[in-house]
Amino acid sequence: MPAAIEFDRVTKRFGLITAVDNVSFSIESGNFFSILGPSGCGKTTLLRLVAGFETPDSGRIFLDGHDVTALPPNQRPVNTVFQNYALFPHLTVRENIAFGLRIAKKDPKLIRSEVDKMLNLIQMEQHADKWPDQISGGQKQRVAIARALINRPRVLLLDEPLSALDLKLRQKMLLELDLIHDEVGITFLYITHDQTEAIGVSDKIAVIHRGRIEQVGKPSELYESPTSSFVAAFIGDTNFLDGRVDVTVAKDYSLLKIDEFPPVLCFNDKQLSVGEGVHLILRPEKLRISRDRPEHHSLHNCLEGTVEDVVYRGDHTKYWVKIEGHRLSVSQQHSRFLLDTQPIQWKDRVFVWWHADDSFILERYNASDEKLSEAPSEKVGGVEEDLLKDIPVSASEPASEG
Ligand code: ATP
Repeated sequence: MPAAIEFDRVTKRFGLITAVDNVSFSIESGNFFSILGPSGCGKTTLLRLVAGFETPDSGRIFLDGHDVTALPPNQRPVNTVFQNYALFPHLTVRENIAFGLRIAKKDPKLIRSEVDKMLNLIQMEQHADKWPDQISGGQKQRVAIARALINRPRVLLLDEPLSALDLKLRQKMLLELDLIHDEVGITFLYITHDQTEAIGVSDKIAVIHRGRIEQVGKPSELYESPTSSFVAAFIGDTNFLDGRVDVTVAKDYSLLKIDEFPPVLCFNDKQLSVGEGVHLILRPEKLRISRDRPEHHSLHNCLEGTVEDVVYRGDHTKYWVKIEGHRLSVSQQHSRFLLDTQPIQWKDRVFVWWHADDSFILERYNASDEKLSEAPSEKVGGVEEDLLKDIPVSASEPASEG
């Protein structure tokens, strides 16, 4: 079966700006596929290229194996849901949904039954005769989705469709969108800058940075095995430490030497040699923290430090622990209420430990870093500040200060 969408070395420039830079990837039919990246990275341009609202400067775009690069938008089997719903204010909910079939001059009986199906899909039967200004933001968005689906496109393009909604409604709508996707079974191409949204619903995600693909993979692959520092920083919270492979202590395990930090044992699946520079990536939730020294385990790293900050977050607490010259972010889930009669506090001496398999290393000079090396910048916790500046605050709290 051909891919639902395929980008083949696609480049799009606007004057001096290269919005999409030699991008190649494909999307399997029926996938909920997200394009994720910071503001200005080229997400909307990619979507507009699929819809036919933009033409590439070079490269080709295929839909279901057919080259559509030169086709106008109305001849492509795709439909778009925009951020601002774009409902017709002078048409009722029912008439808005029916619009595409009316234009296509379909039989009125067929239109009625198709619209009824859509109203049922988006659970809006009781609102069918209301005007757009009589329904809520979430309901408007559902109508926009139904209106885009009624023509049975092969691909539904969604351009940050939930961004105008408040957090709770966004979370609810995201679940609904997922259900609608399961129900209709067509390919969804979803554009977002919100990693939580993308991780929650996508079969696969392409992370874009400055018009280029950083990585394409399942959400768990991007989170657990990022191939670049940018992806590691963009998806979830991360501690970065700069180190060097010091010595290989057992098959697949190496000791890393990090300035102003104790030696760290790390799984070295990349078989990097002694002396090679690496980023050590530690996810805060993989680290454990306690006042008492934990039992010795040959594959555990156990370091002693001082708590510098404690932030209570309801379901978990975030600690910032100073260990020699670095600050590590540690997240502890609250699985039991007040289990510790004396909670860890600011200035406490603590042990932070983790299994060597729960950290991972990235080669220091990967694609992202090379791009950035053109403009040298100050390092923050082992990662160029320039690299992190694209990342929205919600996506990543400050990494460790190296
Ligand atoms: P956001 O999340 O902020 O919407 P985005 O990732 O969707 O951003 P694009 O809208 O694709 O990014 O823009 C990519 C780059 O191309 C940006 O630098 C933008 O300013 C530029 N760009 C996009 N459209 C045009 C245009 N019509 N004319 C000139 N420059 C454009």
